[in-house]
Amino acid sequence: MSVIDEVKQRADIVEVVSQYVSLTKSGRTFRALCPFHSEKHPSFFVYPERQSWHCFGACNAGGDVFSFIMKKQGIDFGEALRLLAERVGIAIPSRLEPEARKDERERLYQVNAAAAQYFHNLLLNSPAAKKARDYLARRGLLPKTISDFQLGFSLNSRNALKQYLMERGYSEGELEQAGLIIRQDDGKTHDRFRNKLLFPILDIRGRVPGFGARVLDDSLPKYINSPQTPVFDKSSSLYGINLAAAAIRQQDMAVIVEGYTDVITAHQNGFNNVVASMGTSITEKQVSVLKKLSKIMIFALDADAAGVEAMLRVEKTSTEALDKDVVAVPYRDPSRLSPPLNEAQVRQDQKHQKIIAYVGVPDVEVKVLTLPSGKDPDDVIREDTKAWQNLLEQAFPVVDYTFDMVTSGLDLTTAKDKSLVVDKLLPIIAEIKDMVRQAHYLQKLARLVKVSERNLEAALGKIRASQVRGKVKEPLPKSVTRRLSPLLSSPVEEGCLAWLLQHPELKTHCQGLLAEYFENSENHEIFLAWQQIDNLSSLKEKLDAAVHEHLDSLVTKSLPPTTQAEREDVFASYVLRLREKFLRSLAAKREEVLALEAESGGTAAELAKLKEQGVEVNVQLGEVFAQKSRRR
Ligand SMILES: [Zn+2]
Repeated sequence: MSVIDEVKQRADIVEVVSQYVSLTKSGRTFRALCPFHSEKHPSFFVYPERQSWHCFGACNAGGDVFSFIMKKQGIDFGEALRLLAERVGIAIPSRLEPEARKDERERLYQVNAAAAQYFHNLLLNSPAAKKARDYLARRGLLPKTISDFQLGFSLNSRNALKQYLMERGYSEGELEQAGLIIRQDDGKTHDRFRNKLLFPILDIRGRVPGFGARVLDDSLPKYINSPQTPVFDKSSSLYGINLAAAAIRQQDMAVIVEGYTDVITAHQNGFNNVVASMGTSITEKQVSVLKKLSKIMIFALDADAAGVEAMLRVEKTSTEALDKDVVAVPYRDPSRLSPPLNEAQVRQDQKHQKIIAYVGVPDVEVKVLTLPSGKDPDDVIREDTKAWQNLLEQAFPVVDYTFDMVTSGLDLTTAKDKSLVVDKLLPIIAEIKDMVRQAHYLQKLARLVKVSERNLEAALGKIRASQVRGKVKEPLPKSVTRRLSPLLSSPVEEGCLAWLLQHPELKTHCQGLLAEYFENSENHEIFLAWQQIDNLSSLKEKLDAAVHEHLDSLVTKSLPPTTQAEREDVFASYVLRLREKFLRSLAAKREEVLALEAESGGTAAELAKLKEQGVEVNVQLGEVFAQKSRRR
């Protein structure tokens, strides 16, 4: 599957559009005030089943998720593709990156590396960095560790870094893009990191995408990061991965902690397979990086509930990915937390609980290590490395951990608590894909509540059935609608383009072939570009590299040998079929809207307008049918 198709499959149009406009569900569609023209009555519609949108108001235009982003952000296809890919966590292979973009990214890594070097020198040598050096000494960090992690210090100055880097040939724009300086409202810029201890964040290839920074006094916030940049994405970064990757692979085990200093102290003491999530949760992107290195992941969790919740919460970026990646979510009983959760938090919580502890892939094992109360890994390791070693050895599978969380504080001799435990744990067990493991936990539950395994098995069967039903009943069963989605490939569009590209002389027969007939974004892009240039090599240059693969497949598509007259005939029939397809789809969308409007008491004027549009579409369809029958 091409990267474009992958993005299409992952980027749900309803989710994407709702980031810009507030959508209201209405029948099988979603509607909103059009973001592209000003209106009082919503005539902008999103069709989840078709993965498309249409404005029946002044715009009278529509398209797919790419065209929406292009129009909304005012960017071209390639930029829209990269933006969406980023949002759904798909990496664009670097061979598809335009050269200019590669250079730009390369430049950002360079400027960050230069900044890291500058900060590191200051930490080692500047008198102003004494308090930072003292702080590190108090924490027992050795010179070698400080150098391994390239720790740094930033002066308390508005533009020391800016000046240093600009003298070395970096532009203000590059510094800003790298997130090293901040532009104020009045247009002036200043250094982002001032009077801070700096933790350069290196990727697995040893490049520097960004920085973490800590204050050296009691001011807040205690930590800041580089912002999101073309090279830095917090949700896919793992602190320490450059130094930990080899050990993780070798020991086939990754240990995930929360803080920079936890990682640093662990490494200084020989625990080299430790990395930190960048913030309170571990994301799918981070898990997928680790999965390539090891099959066992151990999460080090604070003993207090807040920490547990923070670390185990897995950011939900897409439901489809959840089936694939390891997902560990804590169970927590809202009534047992203090302070109690508010309503929104409970809802949020339930959403996460649905994802359920260890939905897991059979080939990865997630374990949990519980830290002594009030201590983080840094404290534990500094006090006694043996204690840390023991904690690692005692880490236990996340499902067992969830059993403990659920049952703690309950009285399992009472019927009420027994049924509570079964209600909470059975759905989790039902989610375990590995049958042996599932049986194991069913046994465990049966012993725990002293209920026969057979009874539990029957209940489990019901849950599985309802889980399956639940999936079908979902308002937007993505995997299903996506499969129905006509957007992934369109044989008529592609057939038409193949003829055009392989027989340039057909260009003179293109009257009546409109760009909007191409509903598939790549086809649309190719047709638009081809209207301007029909020379193949220039066409390729004009198109984004991500579209080249698709273009190649059209250019090499095998077509039957034909005479000039036959070709013209085949092509004319393609144009007609495209026009029919477009008009039919427009009519179907309009019908849905008309029905909704009539139901919800739309104003007479709007109904009349829609009907008028409908009449026009029908007239045009009539023309198509007439032409078709003449051809027969
Ligand atoms: Zn509009």
